[in-house]
Amino acid sequence: MKVGIARDERFLEHKTGHFHPEHPKRLDAIYRMLDQHFKEQLISIPTEPATVEQIERIHSPAYIKRILKTAEQRITSLAPDTPISADSYFAAWLAAGACIQGIDHLMAKASDAFFAFVRPPGHHALPDKAAGFCIFNNIAIAAQYAIDRYSLGRILVIDWDIHHGNGIHDIFYDNPKVLYMSTHDLMMYPYTGEFDQTGSGKGNGYTVNIPILREFTDDDMIYLYQEILRPLISGYRPQLIMVAAGFDAHADDPIGRSNRPIPLNGSDLWRGDTLAETFKIFAGKSTPVLLPGRRLSSACPGRIH
Ligand SMILES: [Zn+2]
Repeated sequence: MKVGIARDERFLEHKTGHFHPEHPKRLDAIYRMLDQHFKEQLISIPTEPATVEQIERIHSPAYIKRILKTAEQRITSLAPDTPISADSYFAAWLAAGACIQGIDHLMAKASDAFFAFVRPPGHHALPDKAAGFCIFNNIAIAAQYAIDRYSLGRILVIDWDIHHGNGIHDIFYDNPKVLYMSTHDLMMYPYTGEFDQTGSGKGNGYTVNIPILREFTDDDMIYLYQEILRPLISGYRPQLIMVAAGFDAHADDPIGRSNRPIPLNGSDLWRGDTLAETFKIFAGKSTPVLLPGRRLSSACPGRIH
């Protein structure tokens, strides 16, 4: 399997403060791991920022202007949990652009899967609001680009982050061109994503929320993914699969574990062989896969094969 990646040192210029959980060192650790173990195996493509027009397909012009203005200040608090630095706006532009270039890369069949190692993350971002460390909704922007540029009508977005991706959920809630499936802990931020929220209007039935319990083991999660994804994929026949690949379900993640007396044992869940198995399900259909990594844990890199 050929795997393309996006990486860029400029993502590290998005500074959130020494004590913020989504800090540059996490991505830096991934980059060092890539250099050490995977240099020859991955196809790295240069990263370019998204255009304003591409971002405006999802975010309001007033919100985009507000993000631009943050370049004038050393620190801005976009939301109580979302502090950003003067260079963050550009990293956000670049993160959305990397996902768009991933779509181009996949549609040109230059590789079978594409991993965008980017920050800031995106799945909580709403059209006019930053939230949960997210500025622009990278997946939503890239999915909309795939719809506009390549006339795709069936995009499956899988969100395995421990938090519900309320931004992606809301943006495509009435749109059957994007089938959003999320597994998440309802007891954690943003406390949304109920099982009976399945979409509205033409999008009715195209949202799949699966709240998970803290008692779930890795075997439960793997069973759940295999049993739900298989019929979803065979019924929907996605032309593109995108994964909001947050790794905070990992047992060592400081946020995924917070306030959880019995942490979800994610230690084996995202091991290479499980990922490969997941890819095999996808790739068996010759479907391109795009994964924008969100909050990649420094505990995980060695397990990505
Ligand atoms: Zn998360």
